[in-house]
Amino acid sequence: MPLVTTADDGSVKSVKLPRPSNPHGHVRDGALREAVTPWVLANTKHLIVMPNVDPPLKTVEASLTYLGEVERIRDRLGLGTNVLGTLYNHDGITPKMIEQMAATKRIVSVKCYPAKAGMTTGSGQGIPLEQTSDDVLRAAIDNNIVYQVHGEVDTMKDGTPLEPAMRERYYMTDVLPYVRDAHPDLRISVEHGTTVQAVRLVDGDPSGKTVMTITPQHLLFVDDDFMQPWGNDLKCMPILKWPTDRAALIKAATSGDRRFFAGTDTAPHPSRKKRGDFQLAANGCWLPHWISLYTQAFHAAGKLDSVFDDFMSYSFADWMGLPRPEPDDTVLVTCDTAHDIPAPINIEGEDDVVIPLGWTETGNRLRVGFSVRADF
Ligand SMILES: [Zn+2]
Repeated sequence: MPLVTTADDGSVKSVKLPRPSNPHGHVRDGALREAVTPWVLANTKHLIVMPNVDPPLKTVEASLTYLGEVERIRDRLGLGTNVLGTLYNHDGITPKMIEQMAATKRIVSVKCYPAKAGMTTGSGQGIPLEQTSDDVLRAAIDNNIVYQVHGEVDTMKDGTPLEPAMRERYYMTDVLPYVRDAHPDLRISVEHGTTVQAVRLVDGDPSGKTVMTITPQHLLFVDDDFMQPWGNDLKCMPILKWPTDRAALIKAATSGDRRFFAGTDTAPHPSRKKRGDFQLAANGCWLPHWISLYTQAFHAAGKLDSVFDDFMSYSFADWMGLPRPEPDDTVLVTCDTAHDIPAPINIEGEDDVVIPLGWTETGNRLRVGFSVRADF
């Protein structure tokens, strides 16, 4: 159980949590990677870094080299995060490569992106899950490799275009169930699920082979929040959905059902790509304050003192067969409105910054209400 301390009036003062894990973080490349990696690693037990860099990580060798770069930053800062990798799904992946991945014990999954370019950062350079060959998926089952799936498609099977709000819904009702049924033993993680339909799909598989990560932004916000002064910070894919969807996500996340767990999809962009015209703004929420944001969502649901640690710290580790944090390996979240959103960070050698979700210079900021120290 998370250790919650309260003031005399019953309000929450702090929450002590086993060090949480994050199955879905983007740390990018070059100077941006150097700037953001410390924040993504801080206070994190296990982290899977995403492969949609340029060029995408499509081979075991490329993925291991990338992991080495991230670990170099980790070791320089003395952070204890277990950094894990994933391969970008493409038609060059063979059963032999799946075996090689498994042998590394460090590349634990294949990440599937939408087939079309422009649907999200780095999409359109591979194949989606549903086009993956049966012999590769059989090798994944035999070698305990997970498929992490960005489940969206922008046209129906008859060619009818789908608006952004409908893309995940259609995928979850008309695409993914066929793969699920054809390969019942395949371990599928629906990444950043956002809809009633995604929750239903996971709910409908009692075997536990289908799980779902839920981001803090989709637990806290709906499409109307794009009108906030910091609305561009919320622009991500899958796009924010409707109140009925958010209610389904909150219910799943706080239910104690261990098939639903945290996964941030924290995805930084330099501010020149994020600020300005909403339609042109890059997709991706930069979330150095992810633990605070999840705390706020669970606090609002009245579930901080019960299932919060399963969602944040245990369910993903258990599902992947990774060690849980030791009893003394904890993170302290304090109720603190003064420093709840960290300041933008500089990118070395560039006249640009990375701006966290909810931050504005004018003080028109999101108030998270909780904060966590990041020591590095
Ligand atoms: Zn992502």
